[in-house]
Amino acid sequence: MTPEPAIARNLHAIQARIHAACEAAHRPRTAVSLVAVSKFHPPESIEAALEAGQRIFGENRVQEAQAKFPTLRDRWPDLHLHIIGSLQTNKALDACRIADTIESLDRPSLSDAIARAGEKLGRLPKLYVQINTGNEPQKSGIPTAEADAFLTQTRARFGNSLVGLMCIPPEDQDPAPHFRYLATLAGNHGLDRLSMGMSADFETAISCGATSVRVGSAIFGTRPPHP
Ligand SMILES: *Cc1c(COP(=O)(O)O)cnc(C)c1O
Repeated sequence: MTPEPAIARNLHAIQARIHAACEAAHRPRTAVSLVAVSKFHPPESIEAALEAGQRIFGENRVQEAQAKFPTLRDRWPDLHLHIIGSLQTNKALDACRIADTIESLDRPSLSDAIARAGEKLGRLPKLYVQINTGNEPQKSGIPTAEADAFLTQTRARFGNSLVGLMCIPPEDQDPAPHFRYLATLAGNHGLDRLSMGMSADFETAISCGATSVRVGSAIFGTRPPHP
């Protein structure tokens, strides 16, 4: 685990790299927001990031987010929580309750569950559709062959709550073609937001048009084992 002063230092270093990547891509510094991925890290680490000015956080699991974030929100009401991990349909209602944004809308049954949750709550979080750009069998996300049809349906169903696309490229490949594919697909569907790039490849993602990058270990250090 990383001691807390290191978290503030890491955050500033990542922000500086984001700004440099924006400049290199001739994009405004404000074009890219940073989602600090705090999965498996304790609330004290998240507090250190909040004290350093970070406001957007990503968590993979709803239960873990429920355990950590309500207390933090009391102190920092302007924090934003993104659910970025694979979601079971029976967790959709809880996810819609706790999250400002769900980035991992990855299949029709989850779309149904989120629609039901939205009716019940009278509001929806912002949504990203996760695309399986490498069509990897073990990875979640809409396969590329089904992307156009799914995005058309999702837009019709959720309207402006659907804001963008998310992907996690295959580990063993150059991520740039995957990022460029995602950018083209978003453009074809009139979607403005692209969540792509992690600790290892966020600068490449920014050069390909990312509007938010999801960075975990480069901020919080190596993840402790699953809680
Ligand atoms: C864990 C995770 C990240 C952050 O990964 P790092 O390599 O630690 O930056 C980003 N996106 C998703 C979907 C993740 O699960």
